[in-house]
Amino acid sequence: MAKTALITGVTGQDGSYLSELLLDKGYTVHGLIRRSSSFNTERIDHIYQGPEEANRSFVLHHADLSDGVALVNLLRDIRPDEVYNLGAQSHVRVSFDAPLYTGDVTGLGTIRLLEAVRASGVETRIYQASSSEMFGASPPPQDERTPFHPRSPYSVAKVYAYWATVNYREAYGMYAVNGILFNHESPRRGETFVTRKVTRGIARIKAGLQDRLHLGNLDAVRDWGYAPEYVDAMWRMLQCDAPDDYVVATGEGVSVRQFVEYAFAHAGLDWAEHVRYDPKYERPSEVDALVGDASKAEELLGWKPEVKTRELARIMVDADIRLLADQLTGATVRVDR
Ligand code: NDP
Ligand code: GDP
Repeated sequence: MAKTALITGVTGQDGSYLSELLLDKGYTVHGLIRRSSSFNTERIDHIYQGPEEANRSFVLHHADLSDGVALVNLLRDIRPDEVYNLGAQSHVRVSFDAPLYTGDVTGLGTIRLLEAVRASGVETRIYQASSSEMFGASPPPQDERTPFHPRSPYSVAKVYAYWATVNYREAYGMYAVNGILFNHESPRRGETFVTRKVTRGIARIKAGLQDRLHLGNLDAVRDWGYAPEYVDAMWRMLQCDAPDDYVVATGEGVSVRQFVEYAFAHAGLDWAEHVRYDPKYERPSEVDALVGDASKAEELLGWKPEVKTRELARIMVDADIRLLADQLTGATVRVDR
């Protein structure tokens, strides 16, 4: 029997790749979208199926992680085999400006969803999008046993959500897992995360639309992977005999400066001529270095990443140059084609 999945955060980077993966596997995919005054479905427009289509395998529903009743109703109606909780206020810098909102959606939103599963009485498996940001000030390499030391309202909220997921597994025997994913990027990455900001900036500099790119701390080290590979790890976590928590990472630590160098060099540009420091992009407390050890995922899930940071930078630069060229010539624009 074909499986059914519910994805919160379906309009985001990961939600769009996960939808494609599950549709390819024959799932019926239900996505939770929140109402917006402007279109927020750009990343999933290419797989959208209108209500007039017979036997739809991709269905969108309006709801919100701040609305627990809507979550119960949705679960009761859909009765999914698998729930992927990817919805969040996911930006670390923004979480310092909107800490309570971030706590509500990213932290409490998770327990609302877990409670909604209980209240609806639906037997399902739950994936929680946990984050390497939870390790914060704990030095690398980080794995499943590394203590959490969150350094932002975002990561504090993610720690709450992590423990809520563990608690519901222990208290109610739910199949609920945490994927502790290190940074993962793609041509669909949000435009204000540093990798995408850099690759979009490069496309605009190449096209003569701007000359400078303003960035904050270039010394931070991240373990950047490729998002399409990471959603596969999410799916694998829900196919095991027993629920457990897993780190997903490449194991390669690269500074922001090095990413900038890779990306500019690939475009034939000298980064030092274009990048300027702006303290506006510093955070009140920074996470200096995240480098993951994903041995457990490799051993138990058979998951191994192929794309490392240098290749990732190339993929993203090429995609942003193409995207801008399409926009400038008025061609049909697709986020990552
Ligand atoms: P995005 O920011 O691209 O997507 C976030 C999604 O959450 C969007 O679909 C957004 O909707 C939705 N959302 C925001 N607020 C609400 C709300 N109140 N109710 C319902 N949905 C909401 O994130 P990513 O795809 O990059 O990441 C997916 C998840 O994984 C997030 O939880 C993130 O925190 C986590 N994560 C991401 C990592 C990464 O490197 N990408 C690393 C580790 C964890 P809208 O489009 O309308 O804004
Ligand atoms: P994060 O790891 O989830 O915070 O992902 P980001 O892509 O937002 O930031 C990664 C690192 O890049 C952090 O250490 C930031 O401080 C650093 N950084 C430097 N300049 C910028 C910038 O202009 N924007 C963002 N978003 N991050 C920057």
